[in-house]
Amino acid sequence: MRYCKRCLYPENHPLHLTFDEHGVCSGCRVHEEKDELDWRERKDKLRRLLQEFKSRSRGIHDCIIPVSGGRDSHFIVHTIKHEFGLHPLLVNYNKHYNTRMGIRNLAYLRTLLGCDIVTQTVSPETVKKVTRESLRQRGSMYWHCLAGGTVFPVQLAVKFKIPLIIWGAHQGCDQVGMFSHLDEVEMTRKYRKDHDLMGLEAEDLVKNGQELTLGDVEPFVYPHDNEIRSVGVRGLYLSNYMRWDSKAQHEQMIKLYGYETALQQRTFDTYNDVDCFHYSGVHDYIKFLKWGYGKASDHASREIRLKRLTREEGIDLVQRYQDRQPQDLNLFLKWANLGENEFRGWIDNHRDSRAWMKNERGAWVLRDSIVNHRDDEDVDAARLERKEQCEFQLNPPRDPKAVEDGYVLVGRGWVD
Ligand SMILES: [Zn+2]
Repeated sequence: MRYCKRCLYPENHPLHLTFDEHGVCSGCRVHEEKDELDWRERKDKLRRLLQEFKSRSRGIHDCIIPVSGGRDSHFIVHTIKHEFGLHPLLVNYNKHYNTRMGIRNLAYLRTLLGCDIVTQTVSPETVKKVTRESLRQRGSMYWHCLAGGTVFPVQLAVKFKIPLIIWGAHQGCDQVGMFSHLDEVEMTRKYRKDHDLMGLEAEDLVKNGQELTLGDVEPFVYPHDNEIRSVGVRGLYLSNYMRWDSKAQHEQMIKLYGYETALQQRTFDTYNDVDCFHYSGVHDYIKFLKWGYGKASDHASREIRLKRLTREEGIDLVQRYQDRQPQDLNLFLKWANLGENEFRGWIDNHRDSRAWMKNERGAWVLRDSIVNHRDDEDVDAARLERKEQCEFQLNPPRDPKAVEDGYVLVGRGWVD
């Protein structure tokens, strides 16, 4: 397998990478723009754009912000509300795998930032059926979270005639350099289908499915182009206009709002996905079983590019986390009403043959890993100089009795 000489990404990255003549990946090259662009000018451009929407909004909400109890939500809402003066409607897709910490973070978000929120909870039986299908068809237990999280804001934008949706980072730009920041890429149905949903829209899930009807997947169906056009819905990504640094942003939110953080099972980043039982557990383990690398590689690559880790330190972290068995598998299997063998069989069907092979005894073995590419030629030439330490804070829960022992019910609206 070919690996980037600067970060830890392999050539089989599912969002697709290219390598230049120095063996550096497209993600690393586009990332260099973060230190080259005039971000003050880009922010002014965003300010003008937002102003247009603000002056046109007829209701009480100027825009929609999709939120969760983790990842970047506090930063996006804080920035839009306090830096740009817009009044957002927060929109949350209930992913059903909620931790208590995630629910508390969501409560801080709406309480401390004073926002209205709409939450969509799809029928638990439907979500289970959809999840069994997406596991079978794509080896994904997260399809419903991705599909719901990317469609519910668009459905509400159409319904409430709020033409602006504000997202945080664009993964295609930030991870693999599919676009330059200057392309100012916006939300599209096509990118959602091809990349967020692994080529599988709700209707496709039914077509190839065994236990689903079109009625079941209705909550995940993208609005018709005509509806989107008639409201003029646009989805902007803040990362095209602000120098995106998720770690620094979370630390600012910890200071301002007490955003809660927690140790994660399979990665060293304690900030990103504290709202979900499975994202850094079974879901990430599946990613490893499919592609041969997991979240620790994503997070280490990000930190290498932001000059807080050396490539070698990143590889050490991958080595520490990559094989860790997740502790949350039984919780998920019980919820999804699945046996472990069935589950493992479905995942095995989706292993990438560039990353995995069966040995003579029939056991799966990794063909290659970044761990074997520590001393590749030209690594030194591609190296960025480390400028900072990479330490992630643990901000303990404000509820001292908090225990994470199962999915949590969504309850009271506010938090003290
Ligand atoms: Zn790279």
